[in-house]
Amino acid sequence: MTYALVLNGCSKTYPDQAKALTGFRDAFLAGFPQGKTIIIFNEEEKKQSLINASATVLVELIKVERYQPETVLTALQNLEHESCRDFYLFPGDQAGSELSVRFASRMGGSSLANIYSLEAGAGSPVCRRAAYNNYLEAEFSLDRKPYCLSLQKGFSAHTGKEKPKPPEMKVIEHNAKELNSNKAGTGINGTGAPDDSFVLDYKYTESDETTNLESARFILAAGRGVKNRSGLEKVEKTAAAIGAEVGVSRPVAMNAWAPLSKLIGVSGHMTGPELCITAGISGAAAFYAGIEKSACIAAINTDPGAPIIRSSDLAIIDDYEPVLEELERLIMENKRIEGEDR
Ligand SMILES: Cc1cc2nc3c(=O)[nH]c(=O)nc-3n(C[C@H](O)[C@H](O)[C@H](O)COP(=O)(O)OP(=O)(O)OC[C@H]3O[C@@H](n4cnc5c(N)ncnc54)[C@H](O)[C@@H]3O)c2cc1C
Repeated sequence: MTYALVLNGCSKTYPDQAKALTGFRDAFLAGFPQGKTIIIFNEEEKKQSLINASATVLVELIKVERYQPETVLTALQNLEHESCRDFYLFPGDQAGSELSVRFASRMGGSSLANIYSLEAGAGSPVCRRAAYNNYLEAEFSLDRKPYCLSLQKGFSAHTGKEKPKPPEMKVIEHNAKELNSNKAGTGINGTGAPDDSFVLDYKYTESDETTNLESARFILAAGRGVKNRSGLEKVEKTAAAIGAEVGVSRPVAMNAWAPLSKLIGVSGHMTGPELCITAGISGAAAFYAGIEKSACIAAINTDPGAPIIRSSDLAIIDDYEPVLEELERLIMENKRIEGEDR
């Protein structure tokens, strides 16, 4: 059995990715000697630290102008189609899951995202991942090579089996443009997209990587009921004043009133704060799954029949705006009195 760990060096989180991929390899693929690391990168200065973060004898770097899934996938496909590995392991973030699923489709293999264990022997490999909001563990048997897997978000293996770094590494560097133009970019089941010239224009927006909804103790979550971007800005202002982390429901993220990194629910963060206040959120199951572990849920909604009203500890049937204004006023007043008492 052969494997490749695919590290996304364009992402700021590559040191954690490298640790997780190596930990997974040491825990579940330790018996397979023929591993390599494929590193996607776009900044020359990062190259050496990316190589240092790798833990396989063979390291293949692919330089891209910028991270663009089509370009990366076509380059990976062109690199691998002649000597395809049995396993491809991708990091446990959104980009890693996207690449694992799309790469499997291009290579005619099978994929599974968010796995935390693997049994790879003579027969079909068996992977495990969480299902039904972490209430169940699901076991999947994969039937077609290559097996393209992405790790569970935040995966860390504490096996104590960490292998020493290989004393000598063989490093090969490729350029995505050359890889993709030499091989016409079509590969196996390819899309025929030779480079990223189909991107006519783009703007780079730094994402808010400070969001830490999963460990937040106090969340103020806003839904479609806030109506528009300026409604959300008011919620953000209140949250900053009262010390809450802002989270949003899907319509808010889909309307781009807030970044996707703020999304709560099955497609976003699964939170468990001490207090979660929802404003203008109906409480659909896909959202509620992301807050149900809260110690206390307080809902503000104009509709007494909204599902969130039944599933919250405290409900206020009113327009969210005056309620949040009053809440902010009370908390500020309280803080002022506490300050005077000291
Ligand atoms: C596969 C799948 C995955 C999904 N994943 C997610 C997910 O991860 N997260 C997620 O959020 N959704 C997810 N959804 C969508 C989900 O099903 C709901 O559509 C979504 O959560 C609804 O968001 P909402 O409550 O903001 O909007 P709505 O359901 O439209 O509710 C808006 C609420 O605001 C109230 N309201 C209106 N005006 C005011 C006001 N002035 N003051 C107070 N209240 C007001 C209304 O009474 C209403 O209850 C998913 C759906 C699918 C199919």
